[in-house]
Amino acid sequence: MNRSFTRANGTLLLTDHSRSVARAAKIIKEGGLVAFPTETVYGLGASALDADAVKKIFAAKGRPFDNPLIVHLSDLDQLNCVARDIPGAAKLLINKFWPGPLSLVLQRSDAVPGVVSAGLPTVAVRMPRHRIALDLIRLSGVPIAAPSANRSGKPSPTSFRHVIEDMAGRIDAVIKSSFCAIGVESTVLDLTGPSPVILRPGGLSREDLEKVLGCQIHIAGNYENINLPSSPGMKYRHYSPSAPLFLITGPQKRRRYFIDALARSYQRKGFIVGMLNLYSNSSLVQEKDSRVLAAHLYQLLRRLDARGVDFILAEETSAEGLGLAIMNRLRKAATRIIRV
Ligand code: AMP
Ligand code: MG
Repeated sequence: MNRSFTRANGTLLLTDHSRSVARAAKIIKEGGLVAFPTETVYGLGASALDADAVKKIFAAKGRPFDNPLIVHLSDLDQLNCVARDIPGAAKLLINKFWPGPLSLVLQRSDAVPGVVSAGLPTVAVRMPRHRIALDLIRLSGVPIAAPSANRSGKPSPTSFRHVIEDMAGRIDAVIKSSFCAIGVESTVLDLTGPSPVILRPGGLSREDLEKVLGCQIHIAGNYENINLPSSPGMKYRHYSPSAPLFLITGPQKRRRYFIDALARSYQRKGFIVGMLNLYSNSSLVQEKDSRVLAAHLYQLLRRLDARGVDFILAEETSAEGLGLAIMNRLRKAATRIIRV
């Protein structure tokens, strides 16, 4: 029966038709690993209620066990299975933003094994805004624990080709679908403390959260300082291409002058320089633009790597809207941050 499916290094390549999604759900139910599309990035899923299955995620990615996973739900009944003592703010945000790119950190229920949350008493949960992801979870009959479907340290995958590049031969199946619309991971908001805190900026902007909660929301630690982990998992240098990436910050005119000069000097020495050309010529990066930048960021990083560039030069962008997530990822991807 499996002969009707193609494989890459033993990994099943499934289409997003209902018969294939049902096949993927069966794999999840039986304790296997399936990569699937979401609106943020491709996820690598296993049953969130099966500790052995979840351990396989860490092995396949090469992910450290102290980096917790996000649990994906397809309906609100599952929320009470995985979390407890759910505060009013969570209900407000869920009403407004789910399904969508917002993960909420809540108190973990006993049904979720500790390995999912790296032993923390909490659990991060979200409902993805993607038909295939929702069908997969519903047909599996279990919440699905899923980090991004890349090898640990690599840029997150926004197309099934990226998943195959990193994961073929390491996981049971991947569901092929179109590009991920948002292109960066979900915003992680901690609701277990006295006030809400953004642990990781992502696909839902801080401004949108503040409008609904009616208060200022702080970002844990100092998001500009990658040496201060604000959330478990944030201490690792990741989202990284293989080539060294230099992030140039400072006033626009100075940084552009500096980038031009640096690029020319490397080229004179025979190096291939890749420019992370995310920026319009306008000095104001509008929210609309930061959405476009976010959608292409990881794809551009992977493409520069594939071209075999020796260095990547990236320019600072505004930290408004999705720009906050973009700057967070660039800072973490950077080998050096140069302020001019
Ligand atoms: P990824 O699934 O690769 O997008 O990474 C998920 C990220 O969500 C982790 O690296 C943490 O930063 C954050 N996270 C997940 N669960 C928790 C939790 N229980 N408490 C705090 N942060 C969490
Ligand atoms: Mg990840």
